[in-house]
Amino acid sequence: MSNVENKCSGADCDNEAGTLQCPTCLKLSVKSSYFCSQDCFKRNWAASGPYNPFPTYPYTGSVRPVYPLSPRRPVPKSIKHPDWAETGIPKREMRLSKSKWDILDATGQEAMRKVCRLAREVLDITAAAMKPGVTTDYLDEICHNACVERESYPSPLNYNHFPKSLCTSPNEVVCHGIPDQRVLLDGDILNLDISLYHGGYHADLNETYYIGDKAKADPDSIRLIETTRQALDMAIEIIKPGVPIREFGKIIEKHAASRGLGVMKTWGGHGINSEFHPPPWIPHYAKNKAVGTCKAGMTFTIEPILALGRNREVYWPDDWTNVTVDGKWTAQFEHTVLVTETGVEVLTGRLKNSPGGPIPIPEIANEDTNGEAKE
Ligand SMILES: [Zn+2]
Ligand SMILES: [Zn+2]
Repeated sequence: MSNVENKCSGADCDNEAGTLQCPTCLKLSVKSSYFCSQDCFKRNWAASGPYNPFPTYPYTGSVRPVYPLSPRRPVPKSIKHPDWAETGIPKREMRLSKSKWDILDATGQEAMRKVCRLAREVLDITAAAMKPGVTTDYLDEICHNACVERESYPSPLNYNHFPKSLCTSPNEVVCHGIPDQRVLLDGDILNLDISLYHGGYHADLNETYYIGDKAKADPDSIRLIETTRQALDMAIEIIKPGVPIREFGKIIEKHAASRGLGVMKTWGGHGINSEFHPPPWIPHYAKNKAVGTCKAGMTFTIEPILALGRNREVYWPDDWTNVTVDGKWTAQFEHTVLVTETGVEVLTGRLKNSPGGPIPIPEIANEDTNGEAKE
């Protein structure tokens, strides 16, 4: 099928754009945003220039989308695609029963170790390229190439409407930030969230990073990032067979509140194995009603998002980018873990030379008396 709207935006090009396949993207009908190829995009870049696709939208913070988006980066046919790769709809996953959780045998566990190790490598390679002055689209290119080199299908965002290889969520973007032409600034904080499919299994992990020295000197950014990092580690620490799924949220929210931070409740962790997002769903807030307990052989993610301000969010007009309602900043960390007979294995754990990592939190006034969570 062919119509004007899915033509390549290149002034000198008659090809199909190829990425305007889904109804949501068509509905947005953002002008001059879709190109048939990297070549066409680069040729036309000078002419179209960077622009804000939603100029009248009342943005809640300082981050703006910077279009045009680059075209879909191809994944070679030789790399195994997940079942949702073409349509964006995880048909098999949607048929899964909410109460049936997968327990992986030794072969499945080994496959999860492999894909999670590859995902860690890809995240580290991408993170090493972050610095003030580079665009998030450039990071997407690095991530994409690192995935393909590892014969892995990249993509949290192919999962839905935007064909990108990672999510880049700066500052007040809660999650699902779309890599675009925005240049990273000294003082930004940036979450990179990646997912790989390899050998029939999925890995999922993310980290939030400081961009430039200014970010590493900002007390609020440090409090936010380091507390979120710690909250995830503290939740992981209690994992072993028999531990109720609802316990994680209690630990995470208590730690967040002790530093004056809120928990974003909309987004949760999830099972992950041969499916991307199978049950269980894992809340990150206290007093949640999650049922069930950890069992050896289960693999799932925990991925808390903490906020400096209100824990309410809104969407940009792209129906995808999720930002805080007050424009205050958030941070997130995510690991994929395996429950073992005696405890837990962090399958996406940091390596000796992984970029980023914790920095000391400056003394927080009244830490012990201010905002301590009540049980
Ligand atoms: Zn996830
Ligand atoms: Zn993720």
